Amino acid sequence: MSMRNCTCGAEPEVRRENRPTADGRDETFFRVSCPVCGQTGPAVSAAGKDEATAIAEAVEAWNAMIARARPSEA
Ligand SMILES: [Zn+2]
Repeated sequence: MSMRNCTCGAEPEVRRENRPTADGRDETFFRVSCPVCGQTGPAVSAAGKDEATAIAEAVEAWNAMIARARPSEA
């Protein structure tokens, strides 16, 4: 799946984030982030799925966000 460019025109990248959960474990999230303007897509938890799936979902969520922001390019 291809990732849409950011609304600022830059190529975004997938970032991995670890956040502690309420019960003290670390949970891994993936989120698409623009290194130029700092815009980020929705964070997708990798809990219960493999990382490739979580990354694909993060890219999908980013693409949907950009599509809403720039409907003329959808
Ligand atoms: Zn940007």
